[in-house]
Amino acid sequence: MADNIRNFCIIAHIDHGKSTLADRLLELTKTVEQRKMREQYLDQMELERERGITIKLQPVTMRYALNAVPYTLNLIDTPGHIDFSYEVSRSLAAVEGAILLVDASQGVEAQTITNVELARSLGLVIIPVLNKIDLPHARTEESAKELVDLLHIKKEDILKISAKTGEGVPELLEEVVRRLPSPRVSQIQSPPRALIFDFEYSSHQGIIAYVRVSDGGIKKGDELKLYFADEKFTVGEVGIFTPALRPAPEILSGQIGYVVTNIKKPETVRVGDTIVSSKNPLPAFPGYKEPKPVVFSSIYPESQDDFEELRSAFFRLRLTDSAFSFEQEADAVLGRGFRSGFLGMLHMEIVVERIRREFGINLVVATPTVAYEITYRNGEVKLIYSPSDFPEEHEIAKVREPWIKFEVLTPQSALSGVLQLLQEHRAEVSVTSVFGERRMTVAGAMPIRELMRGFFDQLKSVSQGYASFNYEWSDMKEADVARLNILVADEPVSAFTKIVAKDQVEFEGRRMVEKLHEVLPRALFVIKIQAVARGRIIASRALSALKKDVAGYLYGGDRTRRMKLWAKQKRGKKKLKELGKVNIPHEVFVKMIKG
Ligand code: GDP
Ligand code: MG
Repeated sequence: MADNIRNFCIIAHIDHGKSTLADRLLELTKTVEQRKMREQYLDQMELERERGITIKLQPVTMRYALNAVPYTLNLIDTPGHIDFSYEVSRSLAAVEGAILLVDASQGVEAQTITNVELARSLGLVIIPVLNKIDLPHARTEESAKELVDLLHIKKEDILKISAKTGEGVPELLEEVVRRLPSPRVSQIQSPPRALIFDFEYSSHQGIIAYVRVSDGGIKKGDELKLYFADEKFTVGEVGIFTPALRPAPEILSGQIGYVVTNIKKPETVRVGDTIVSSKNPLPAFPGYKEPKPVVFSSIYPESQDDFEELRSAFFRLRLTDSAFSFEQEADAVLGRGFRSGFLGMLHMEIVVERIRREFGINLVVATPTVAYEITYRNGEVKLIYSPSDFPEEHEIAKVREPWIKFEVLTPQSALSGVLQLLQEHRAEVSVTSVFGERRMTVAGAMPIRELMRGFFDQLKSVSQGYASFNYEWSDMKEADVARLNILVADEPVSAFTKIVAKDQVEFEGRRMVEKLHEVLPRALFVIKIQAVARGRIIASRALSALKKDVAGYLYGGDRTRRMKLWAKQKRGKKKLKELGKVNIPHEVFVKMIKG
């Protein structure tokens, strides 16, 4: 019965306790056996558990009884980070309500505000909850007031819990049943329709779509299709999440479950697509978006012997993450690799880390960049994804780059530091306003490129970690940038090539040369390190040669013999230099790219 179903998400800023609350809900509803329970149960990936972040969303169906009436509660645990906001928006579109969880010791954060706006625009019922009330430094009253202002609600509507101790969680479950509406359902005989909010891939069942059924029902043997992918399939199996997949005879309008499609082409499915009947299709759900990579980097295996393995690792990862793209490329120094696109910096970090960890391949990762739109003098317009493809200044008529709209929430005491930092990163601040008792919000726009110049670390340090930042992609704007090349022994090293603001070219060029001079191991010959931009050498340093005292053991008379040895060494050095290859160890790339 759809009347007894509640579909909901937990939305929260990172670390406010979403996964911990999900654990308590799983325990209270006895969804997971006590002996199998472990912390952050829904974060199944090793990397998620270690770093304490949710990367992949995870739905779960729970059974619950209130006053002897049985209910089915479907929870979708969503990733909190902004890189994954599109996934969050799709899972919100699959439910009727959201628990808005706010850490009482931190208060409302920038991401909380964005999530609330998103939930509201989708018409969700929001249950405001203050978490971590067990903490001695919880500012429960102050945080409650912030929630009242943000949501325009009564203070009495706010629930207070500790996801850690479990206090208040049984009451929260009751309120989920009471306050959230049951799903609106269609006629049972309606043709089926379901929203895909996630998927997985299995080599023998193909694409397994995670869906919210909105119309009709789906069962084994049905002839359906993916609307936007325009791909037909016969349903192999349907079922629910316990959180493991458990087959069921049918999933009906109002329910959340999975559909085995047997489609063996993983690239066909996208989050946000709609499943419809192949003969009698209903219209698709609105809001479908192709994931759009905004950060690009060239990724090479440290050893070229691993190239084929890296290729297969990329294909394997794509089965669980359709949001990143890759394309083969070759570099004079680094060999064969892949130019890859990601949703953001965290997304890139996660993919790189998973390749190292799950596939054991060491990588060289070039300085990440955004895509630049170049209008050439001859009128041609092209998108450039790699700094080494960036044209010479005389060929360019105009460059445009992607900008974001952002919102910072900061303690008043850190406001001036935050504003200064924003200015250093070329932000255009549009609104500054008071939030709650002691905080301010700052809204504006800035180039995405600036986020990659250590922005997040600096924001943390100017606010002692108390400022939070949220953003969304906005549009392309004109950019005053140039390419900066770093040459080692007269060879440009493409992994060090960067696009920088023209007025920072000098500073950045000198900084990189100094840094490289510091971290590059010396060789038997002198290595020239140079920064070149806008047609001239900006900085240059020579890394002195290692002196190997070949004649040292010949003390005493025989001068001619010593001369001979020196001459031989000189020839050797010359030869090495002619070979021209300076071996740049992996750690040097890592140190340089970290900035
Ligand atoms: P998420 O990022 O929103 O999923 O947050 P987590 O559930 O991973 O929690 C972040 C941290 O806060 C973890 O160290 C939790 O143990 C801790 N935490 C979560 N809820 C509570 C709570 O009610 N009280 C206390 N003291 N700590 C909590
Ligand atoms: Mg989590």
